[in-house]
Amino acid sequence: KSRDDASTKKKYKDKPNAGQKEEEQRDLDTERIKSRRRFLEMEESKRLELLRREIEDEEELFKDQKLTAEEIREFEKKKKLYEIASQRINDKIDENFYQIPKASEDRKSKEDVLKPRYNENSRESTSSFNPEQKEWEQNRMKQVQTEFGSKKSSQQEEEYDYVFDEEQIQFIAEDSISTTKEISPETIEQIQNIKKLNSQMTMQEVRKSLPIFPYREELIQAVNDYQVLIIVGETGSGKTTQIPQYLHEAGYTKRGKVGCTQPRRVAAMSVAARVADEMSCKLGQEVGYSIRFEDCTSEKTVLQYMTDGMLVREFLTTPDLSNYSVLIIDEAHERTLHTDILFGLVKDIARFRPDLKLLISSATMDADKFSQYFDDAPIFTIPGRKYDVSTLYTQAPEANYVDAVCVTVLQIHVSEPLGDILVFLTGQEEVDTVAEMLQQRTRGLGTKIKELVITRIYSTLPTDLQAKIFEPTPENARKVVLATNIAETSLTIDNIIYVIDTGFCKQKIYNPKSGMESLVVQPCSQASANQRKGRAGRVAPGKCFRLYTAWSFENEMEPNTTPEIQRTNLGNVVLLLKSMGINDLVHFDFMDPPPAETLIKALEQLYALGALNDRGQLTKLGRKMAEFPVDPQLSKMIIASEKYQCTDEILTICAMLTVNNTIFYRPKDKAFQADAAKKTFFHPEGDHLTLLQVYNQWRETGYATQWCFENFIQHRSMKRAKDVREQLEGLLERVEIPITSSADDTIAIRKAITSGYFYNTAKLEKSGLYRTNKTNQSVQIHPSSALFDAPPKWVVYFELVLTTKEFMRSVIEIQPQWLFEIAPHMYKQSE
Ligand code: ADP
Ligand code: MG
Repeated sequence: KSRDDASTKKKYKDKPNAGQKEEEQRDLDTERIKSRRRFLEMEESKRLELLRREIEDEEELFKDQKLTAEEIREFEKKKKLYEIASQRINDKIDENFYQIPKASEDRKSKEDVLKPRYNENSRESTSSFNPEQKEWEQNRMKQVQTEFGSKKSSQQEEEYDYVFDEEQIQFIAEDSISTTKEISPETIEQIQNIKKLNSQMTMQEVRKSLPIFPYREELIQAVNDYQVLIIVGETGSGKTTQIPQYLHEAGYTKRGKVGCTQPRRVAAMSVAARVADEMSCKLGQEVGYSIRFEDCTSEKTVLQYMTDGMLVREFLTTPDLSNYSVLIIDEAHERTLHTDILFGLVKDIARFRPDLKLLISSATMDADKFSQYFDDAPIFTIPGRKYDVSTLYTQAPEANYVDAVCVTVLQIHVSEPLGDILVFLTGQEEVDTVAEMLQQRTRGLGTKIKELVITRIYSTLPTDLQAKIFEPTPENARKVVLATNIAETSLTIDNIIYVIDTGFCKQKIYNPKSGMESLVVQPCSQASANQRKGRAGRVAPGKCFRLYTAWSFENEMEPNTTPEIQRTNLGNVVLLLKSMGINDLVHFDFMDPPPAETLIKALEQLYALGALNDRGQLTKLGRKMAEFPVDPQLSKMIIASEKYQCTDEILTICAMLTVNNTIFYRPKDKAFQADAAKKTFFHPEGDHLTLLQVYNQWRETGYATQWCFENFIQHRSMKRAKDVREQLEGLLERVEIPITSSADDTIAIRKAITSGYFYNTAKLEKSGLYRTNKTNQSVQIHPSSALFDAPPKWVVYFELVLTTKEFMRSVIEIQPQWLFEIAPHMYKQSE
C-alpha cells in the first residue's frame, strides 16, 4: 500500500495561495447571510432608520478623517448593509414585483410569469407602469384572496374574527393562471378512507401496502446479483424500514448483521423502534440501534440501525467490518460528513470482501453520481406514489418567518379542509416558540374552531414526545407537526396534506480563515425546498405554502446543498482517518474532496495540539485523542487535565459543554426569577466554571429533579450531561488516565482548558471589543456569559457564534503567560 504522506507534508509546509478566491467568495457569502439574518431579526423600518442615522453620524467622522482604517471598513460594511436592506424594503413595496405577460399572450411558460420585474440598476421599470398589467394583477390578487375567502361558511367567517387580529399573508400560486387547485371533497374522502384503512390494517398489512412491497423479490434478486446497488425511492416508500427486514427474511443475517446507517440520531432510534414493532420484538434484541453515547443492541441483534458516525468509529475496532453481511448507507443524498467518509471506506472494503453487500440508498437525488462513484453500480428505482402538490409563494418577502408560520397555520386551519400540516423550521428554539404561540392563540377559543393538535419534532426532544408525531389525528381535528430539517427525508409522517416551508435551515459553515465553525440559519437549497414540498403529496394532492417569493426561490437559493465535508472542520475526520492508517488524505477517495486549504488547516490544528508530529503522523497523544468522540480541542483538554490533576472537573465541564445551550430554562412569565437564579451560579473566572458549579451542586443533591426545578435548570439536559460524563469517564479509563480532582484550584482547571483552546484566545482592546489572537477578528463576549459585565483582559473562548454580532460564547479568564507554558510553539515570550 502506498500510503505515503509526502504530498500531505509538502502541502502542509508551504501554504499555497490557491483557494484565496474561494475564501473571498465564502467571506462574501457569510457576509450576505449575516446581513440577511440581521435584517430578519429586527423590524425592518426601525432597523433601517437606525442604520441610516448611524451612517449619517459616521459620515461626518469619515469626512473629518477621524476614523481608523478598521472603522472605515466597518463603516463601509454598514453602508453596504443599508443598501441591501433598503433594496429589500423596496422589493416589498414594489407592487410590480412580477413581470406580467400580456393579457392576450398564451401564458405557457411559468418562468415568464415569475421573472422578476424588479431591477436594481434601473428604477424605470417601476415608473413606467402599464395599466393592463395593473388590472391583470388586481385580478390575480382577487383570485388569490378567494382562495382563503370565497368559500368561507358563516361559521368560518366567525372563526376568522376570533383568530385573526392582524393582517393575513397573501400567497400567489405558482401556476398562477389556473388558480391553485382546491382540495376536492373526493380527496378529503380519500384521506379519511386511507386513515380509516390504516387504523384498521394490521401492521403486516401496512407493510404490504408500501410502494416498495411489490418489488421485494426483484430487490432481493438484485442484491444477490450485484455487490453494490444504488437504491432510489421517494421518501416514505419503505426503504429504511423494509429493506433490512427483506434481507433478514431472505437469510442475509445468517452470516452477519445487516447494518443501516442514518445521518440523524432521531431517525436511527425512531426507525429501529418501528422495525422492532413490525418484527414483534423488543427494541435492543433482534432489532437495535447505536448512536453516540448510547448502545441499544445485544448479542441477538441482527438488524442494526446506527448513525453514520458510529459506523465510521467501528472501523477503529474492526477495520473489515466482519460483523456485517450487508451494509446500507441510507439517506446518502444528505451527504453528511460521516456518510461521505463511509463512501470511501466501504468502497475500499468491498474490494477485498466480495461477500459483503453494499446498498446505497437515497431519496430521488444524485443517483447517477452515486452510481458513477461506485464504479457504475446499477440503480434500482422504486416507483413511488406521488400526488400533485400546488405551490404557493408569498407575494412579498416575510420579515419574520416565525410569525408568518403562525399566521399561515391558522389561515389554513380556519379556511382549508381538514388535513395535517407539516411545518419546516430551523431549530429547537423556533419549534418551541411557534408551538407556544399557536397554543396561546388557540387557547380559549374552545369549540369556536376545530381542535388543533400541536406536535413537535427535533433531535433533542425526548423520545416520548417524539412519538406523538406518529399518533393518528383524532376525528374532526387537525394535526400540525412543527419540525426541523429532520422531517425532510429522514422521517416519514403519514397523512400530511399541507406543508409550510420557511425556506431556511440551520447549517454548519466553516471559515477556514478563522478556523471557525458556526451554525447559521441560512436559505435552504432548491432541492431541499422541493423535498419539503413533496412531503405534502404522499397520500393525496396537497398544498405547499412557501414563505418566500418565487423570486427568492429562483435567485437566492442554491440548486443543491453543499456536502458537509466542504463546510466543516476536518480535525476529527483527519484524526480518525489517520488512526485507521490512512495517511495520504489528499488522495483519499472522497466523492467530493474537501478543499485542500481546509484539509491543511485541520492538519495544522492537530499539529498545534500535538496530535500529529512534524511528519504528519499520529502521535501517542493523537491516538488517545481519537478515542474520544468529541472535537479535537475537547479531547486535548481532557487529556491535558491529567497533567493538571483535574480530570474530574474537566470531564464535567466537557460533558456540560455538550449540552451547553439547553441547561438554563427561562419561562417567559418567570424570566426575572430565572435570570436571578442563573446569576447565583456565575463564577467570576468564567462560564466553564459556572457550568462546573451547576453540575457539582446538582450532584450534591443526589441529582435531584426538584433542585433543577427550583433553579430553573433543565433536568433533562443535566441527565444527558451525566450520561455523557459517564461515557467519557469510561473512555478515560480505556486510555488509562486516572480520575483526579483539583478541588478548588481553578488555575489548574483553566490551564487544562487552555491546553485545548489556546487557538481561541482574545484580548480586550481599548475600544471595549476583543480581538482574537490568531485570526485577528473583532468579537464580543456573549451577553449570556458570567464575564459579560466585567470583561477581563485575556480570555479563552469555547466557540464563536454568529448572530447579530460575532460573539464569544462560554469564556474563561486566563493569564497570558500561561500560553508560553502551554503552547510555546505558538506563543513566544516576545509577543
Ligand atoms: P423511506 O425510508 O423510503 O423514506 P420508511 O421506511 O422510513 O420510508 O417509511 C415507510 C413507512 O413506515 C412510512 O410511510 C410510515 O407509514 C411508516 N413508519 C416509519 N417510521 C414510523 C414510526 N416511527 N411510526 C409509525 N410509522 C412509521
Ligand atoms: Mg428512509
